[in-house]
Amino acid sequence: MTSSYLIKGVSVLGGDRTDLLIRDGVVADGGGTADETIDADGLVALPGLVDLHTHLREPGREDAETVETGSRAAALGGYTAVFAMANTSPVADTAGVVEQVWRLGREAGLVDVLPIGAVTVGLAGRQLAELGAMATSAAGVRIFSDDGHCVADPRLMRRALEYVKAFDGIIAQHAEEPRLTEGAQMHEGEVSTRLGLTGWPAVAEEAIIARDVLLAEHVGSRLHVCHVSTAGSVEVLRHAKARGVRVTAEVTPHHLLLTDELAASYDPVFKVNPPLRTASDVTALREALVEGVIDIVATDHAPHAVEDKECEWAYARPGMVGLETALPVVLSVLGEQWELIAERMSRAPARIAGLAGHGTDLSAGTPANLTLVDPSARRVVDPAGLASRSRNTPYAGTTLPGRIVATFLRGEPTVLDGKAVK
Ligand SMILES: [Zn+2]
Repeated sequence: MTSSYLIKGVSVLGGDRTDLLIRDGVVADGGGTADETIDADGLVALPGLVDLHTHLREPGREDAETVETGSRAAALGGYTAVFAMANTSPVADTAGVVEQVWRLGREAGLVDVLPIGAVTVGLAGRQLAELGAMATSAAGVRIFSDDGHCVADPRLMRRALEYVKAFDGIIAQHAEEPRLTEGAQMHEGEVSTRLGLTGWPAVAEEAIIARDVLLAEHVGSRLHVCHVSTAGSVEVLRHAKARGVRVTAEVTPHHLLLTDELAASYDPVFKVNPPLRTASDVTALREALVEGVIDIVATDHAPHAVEDKECEWAYARPGMVGLETALPVVLSVLGEQWELIAERMSRAPARIAGLAGHGTDLSAGTPANLTLVDPSARRVVDPAGLASRSRNTPYAGTTLPGRIVATFLRGEPTVLDGKAVK
């Protein structure tokens, strides 16, 4: 039974207070009555956030996350759609696996779960996966990525770009030249030298991005660069965009806030791939995000089971959970620039992915995919309080601004009063 909701006194994207009526799954015209009224005094409405880079771990590592627990974490973070990375077990490299993930997302019903297909069979980087079969499957895959691994072979990368061009698909690259990062434990620089840890040099990322924007230009196909982490990568992207290359790029919340100095604690919660970089990289990434050289924020939500994370630095798996803290981190970095936040976290990712019904302007008739944020609230991050099945947040004990009060997916609340509805 569908209910209608009157969201009273809300500020849409920081504008004047107004009432939003939600009925039959869409934003309705004008005022009127509703089954339920939500007092939204002091709250800001944003289009539901869209994450182009989430690891949901199912199938295969349900001890770390499931489609359902990850969907709940996403809804609590203000998301209405997430794209699930392909590095599951089995790998999402066939129509069967992407359809399984898609179906699990529909069953959970908390966010739209859109599977990303692998570029190569088993993420092994040797032969192309069944890109066409995944594209025409029920999951309708448009984005392909070997994330976790780089498609390092330039011939294979070229063929992948050529293949997806036919249906306006996208190759999302984890840019890491593997020969330059063998044994790497953290960013290569002053801190890695001091700590005696093998470094992951910035050039390993920048060299692959430079190669791939040239390949994308040559083929005339679409490239998306995952988790850009260095100032040099920003310069390569700026150059490519000026030339008209069809490239888009993302940055993670953690690369906008944290630096490689945190590795000095040897706490593996700060181990991530690509690694945390220097303060000057962070500054360049922030500027690029504001300017638009970097198009979007994507979480790279990477849940890990305790035994894979609470161990020695060298043995810990890289990655951080991020869905439930993404908007607060971005708010702390950008301040209350709601238009910019809506663009970088909702509209642009929806546009890049060709995802209809998300990232809209909340005008009458648009699908009611939205989130309500209390910007005046402060929250101390408690890992035990996260809905994600994993606890590997780098923000434990940190106070962050902004609380997600409610999230609606096609007019139905998935979060109310800051709590998941189911
Ligand atoms: Zn990656």
